[in-house]
Amino acid sequence: MNVLVINCGSSSLKYQVINSDTEAVLAKGLCERIGIDGRLVYEPAGGEKQVTQAPMPTHKQAIQLVIGALTDSGTGVLKSLDEIGAVGHRLVHGGEKFAASAIITEKMIETMEECTDLAPLHNPANLIGVRACQELMPNTPMVGVFDTAFHQTMPKEAYLYGVPYEYYEKYAVRKYGFHGTSHSYVSKRAAAILGKPYDSLKIIVCHLGNGASVCAVKDGKSVDTSMGLSPLEGLVMGTRSGDIDPSAVEYIGKKEGLDLSGVLNVLNKKSGVLGLSGVSSDFRDLEAAANEGNERAKIAQQVFNYRVLKYIGAYAAAMGGVDCICFTAGLGENNGVIRKEICERLAFLGLQIDDEANAKRGEETVISTPDSKVKALVIPTNEELAIARETAELV
Ligand code: ADP
Repeated sequence: MNVLVINCGSSSLKYQVINSDTEAVLAKGLCERIGIDGRLVYEPAGGEKQVTQAPMPTHKQAIQLVIGALTDSGTGVLKSLDEIGAVGHRLVHGGEKFAASAIITEKMIETMEECTDLAPLHNPANLIGVRACQELMPNTPMVGVFDTAFHQTMPKEAYLYGVPYEYYEKYAVRKYGFHGTSHSYVSKRAAAILGKPYDSLKIIVCHLGNGASVCAVKDGKSVDTSMGLSPLEGLVMGTRSGDIDPSAVEYIGKKEGLDLSGVLNVLNKKSGVLGLSGVSSDFRDLEAAANEGNERAKIAQQVFNYRVLKYIGAYAAAMGGVDCICFTAGLGENNGVIRKEICERLAFLGLQIDDEANAKRGEETVISTPDSKVKALVIPTNEELAIARETAELV
């Protein structure tokens, strides 16, 4: 079956068409600047990437353009829309309502709308994508795959915050975690690569991209993860602060004359390695600046690495040990320096990095030495494939 995978944000939309039987990607691309001016990127497998400026005032028009490109008589990969068997939507926040992917129905959308308060930026944008697809493909089954679902197995001791319990009861204030599709995909691949049963392993997955999180997967279940109620908690990220003392929010607000949402905006968009370095949120820029002697770029990288290291240590303790540590996403897959610095400081766990293996890029690789007690792996994540698999399975 061909599955159209949609990842819809407020002004952009990424898509892929994946054949769920062969797992081949037929085409992929994105719509950018929806509601502004509009740009469509379309890349058929084995064909040339096309970039066109195309007005797309609404998401529906953006998806219409995607369908047009996919079924184009010259460069399209489908004869007609009928060749799409199902649509898989990446959905951000399922709260406690969704512990797994779900077929999209009116009832399901209503339930998801109840989670909107928890993700006021992401969920409405996701739902706009769902509605647009429903209008254009009314007879095609659709599935929602939640970023939070994989983490619904966390025990209470991990997901409760130390705040009045009634806030959890009344407002569902708790840790949810994100990147679940990626953590699930990567941890399963790790078990397959190691040739061990998934439900017998203690795995730590470090999803290190612009947004970044660490997850502890014990016996095939997420038992803790670094992001929280929102994606702001945990690691120091590209532009997000990660963990800070909540008192700093009031203090910064007073000093800078900002209200609560003003400070949160700073913590989400102007902090992390961008805020620390004053250079960039992108580690390639940080590395270049650090090589030219920029001290703040150097310290930003150190703070980032140290926070990842601390979470790995914490999760090894949480699971009573660790068999393997996986690195994924933009940095985890491509930045050997970060991996080396983190792994070298984990020698006390019995982890030994293999420098030659660690020099490889963008492919599944065991980067620990053969006699390393704890294994380290690079595993490119593939959230779209995971969504296509879940979608095909449910449909
Ligand atoms: P997002 O969370 O936006 O999906 P990514 O997973 O693309 O983020 O990660 C972005 C980070 O990964 C950037 O800091 C960037 O420097 C790094 N990165 C991405 N691709 C590469 C690459 N090919 N080589 C080196 N670094 C890369």
